[in-house]
Amino acid sequence: MPEGHTIHRLAKDQGDDLAGRTIRASSAQSRFVEGAALIDGTVLERSEAWGKHLFHTFDSGRVLHVHLGLIGKWFRRAGAPLPDPTDTTRLRLSPKDDAGDEVAWDLTGPMTCAVITPDQQDAVVATLGPDPLRTDADPERMWSRLQRSGKAVGLLLMEQDVVAGIGNVYRSELLNIVGIDPRRPGRKVTRDEFERLWAETVRQLRLGVRRNKIVTMSTAELPMPVSRLPNGEGRYAYKMEHCGRCHTELEVYPLAGRTTWSCPTCQPR
Ligand SMILES: [Zn+2]
Repeated sequence: MPEGHTIHRLAKDQGDDLAGRTIRASSAQSRFVEGAALIDGTVLERSEAWGKHLFHTFDSGRVLHVHLGLIGKWFRRAGAPLPDPTDTTRLRLSPKDDAGDEVAWDLTGPMTCAVITPDQQDAVVATLGPDPLRTDADPERMWSRLQRSGKAVGLLLMEQDVVAGIGNVYRSELLNIVGIDPRRPGRKVTRDEFERLWAETVRQLRLGVRRNKIVTMSTAELPMPVSRLPNGEGRYAYKMEHCGRCHTELEVYPLAGRTTWSCPTCQPR
């Protein structure tokens, strides 16, 4: 599942292509014809992300809400002539004022794709914890959730109402970098550790938006530029055999139904 940095990057890239323009919206897959008709011919005012949720607000006041879930994807199409959408294309967004030969964004397989009201958007956001990529994020909300919970911190990081946008890759990486065993109860995380965890989460997610992939190592630690790095490399713990910081063999075990990796040296129990 894409993590929060991907959704923020999509909001930015789609905003760059489409914001301020009258939108042509269509659904080649018949499932979203009525929804597409509600936004077709209106102007996209802004695109924003909150955790793994993407919201496009139109000048009609309507909001397009997309959550990619496990298999959903956005594809950017560019160059003349644009390829036709396929029968798996739930939604195509493109500027109405071009001749159809400039740019389009195609959505396939989303968990959620719906046209909602701003009140409904607020209701979705109310179920989410602070998003470290948003300037309005309030880390104290995450701190109070950790302090009140006996659940493992590696499990809490995956709960979107505790903190929005973190998935399985970032939880392994962040806890490794900060030096917290994922199995430690949330309430045993100290204030100092939490402050380092929050700061590192903000830093890493921003890096993820910029790099458009999850590469947590610093440039100096990488064997080659990020652009040439094979997928899955440049990480300290996730799917690694040895810790990227101290080279100790990592422990591998399930947590919150997903495999996690931690270092017995850097993240003592
Ligand atoms: Zn280590």
